[in-house]
Amino acid sequence: MNIVRTTPPRPLDVTAVFPRLAPLARTATRLHPRRGTPSVHGSSIGGPLLWPADEPWPHCDAPHEGEERALAELRLERRIRASEAMHPDGAPRVPQYTPEEQAVLDRLDSDETWHDSTWLEGPVALIPLAQLYTRDIPELRPPAHGGADLLQVLWCPFDHPPEHYMPRTVLVWRSAAAVTEILTSPPEPPLVVEEYLPEPCVLAPEQVTEYPNPMELSGELREQIGDLSRWQAAGAGVDSSYAPYPGSFYGSHLSVAPGWKVGGWPMWGYTDPAPRSCPACDTPMDPLLSIDTFEWNRSNCSWIPYEDQAAASPADPRYRDTLQPTGIQIGSGYKQQIYVCPAAPEHPHIELMQ
Ligand SMILES: [Zn+2]
Ligand SMILES: [Zn+2]
Repeated sequence: MNIVRTTPPRPLDVTAVFPRLAPLARTATRLHPRRGTPSVHGSSIGGPLLWPADEPWPHCDAPHEGEERALAELRLERRIRASEAMHPDGAPRVPQYTPEEQAVLDRLDSDETWHDSTWLEGPVALIPLAQLYTRDIPELRPPAHGGADLLQVLWCPFDHPPEHYMPRTVLVWRSAAAVTEILTSPPEPPLVVEEYLPEPCVLAPEQVTEYPNPMELSGELREQIGDLSRWQAAGAGVDSSYAPYPGSFYGSHLSVAPGWKVGGWPMWGYTDPAPRSCPACDTPMDPLLSIDTFEWNRSNCSWIPYEDQAAASPADPRYRDTLQPTGIQIGSGYKQQIYVCPAAPEHPHIELMQ
């Protein structure tokens, strides 16, 4: 971890205005993914997993949908794009193709189709989504026994109708020290949905404090937060553009951080807060991972880390890679949230689109 990302302090201490929020504070770890070359020994998104050579690789048997693309073709396209981005003033060097890439190009030039309708019936090899070491993300709570210190998240890069119009995830906890021989060439699906193929990213985890989304507050507290006179009485300067809607000021800048993160409070907006009870024991579930399409949007720019503010202008050539570093897109720009059971980590997790 040699990159650092620093969220600017919140515009004001919201607990000084609404002390009843103080006990609701939660720590979240923003992951701040940045395109790079992660290794199996580091935390990453879309990077290689520290996976034992003798352990079966997970597959998905559910019915699949999605506009599939050939994985090899996508990777080649992305490599050419990255090569061009390194020469923004023109004259991109023609990449030296590997023999595998040349075979891809030859196949693309031919009329041969890559698509086989029976293929989507599965089983589909999952692809690495995230690998998170507890040394980097202290909010992670591994199972009590077994000495696990590494969470691996894999997913099946297709939609799963009728229940889930998003990828399905598998969570694996393991002890990094117990992996002696590493699987170097895991199975891969020949086809994927482009929006579900993450760009390899290194992470710069940063802890921040969050408070509940306005929709998760009690009616009374929500009413107080929407009352400008309470802010004024506490001497809190609400940005004047928010004066008619102080609740939006709270929601955008003081409550929940945007972007990829572990723990904290969930962001709502696509739907109202949904019940999240463990399917096995009915315990209210905890947010584990938020897989976000964008690292910020126009309404919550105050969360852009200092180090990214120059690149966060649409005119900057780094803009797109900073706004959407992982290349993942959920729905038309939403997030996929993973929840786990705090009573028993082995209980099945749930996922929601927000
Ligand atoms: Zn699947
Ligand atoms: Zn449970």
